[in-house]
Amino acid sequence: MANKSYIKCPNCGVFNTDKEYCENCGELISYKKKQELRAQKVKEEELSDAIKDIENLNLPQRLKKHSNFFVRILGWILYSVWFVVSLIGAFLAWVIAMIAAG
Ligand SMILES: [Zn+2]
Repeated sequence: MANKSYIKCPNCGVFNTDKEYCENCGELISYKKKQELRAQKVKEEELSDAIKDIENLNLPQRLKKHSNFFVRILGWILYSVWFVVSLIGAFLAWVIAMIAAG
């Protein structure tokens, strides 16, 4: 008995011994298994989020290679805007550095 775990099924109330799934109704009752599944799900979500971020970063580049002419123009516009914003940001950083340097 010491090493065995008795888990009461939250779904049907049947007691199960060392089982991951309820013998009676098939409900997942192992806390360890639940944690494993949850950790796996979180990992998958983090991965898909990271992939989404990369795809968003490359959006203008991907649009520029699009088969549709108008989408390619939109890609160039987005790319130009991003480029100008980066230039302004760099310029502002330079100005602030100059002011700070006195
Ligand atoms: Zn059950």
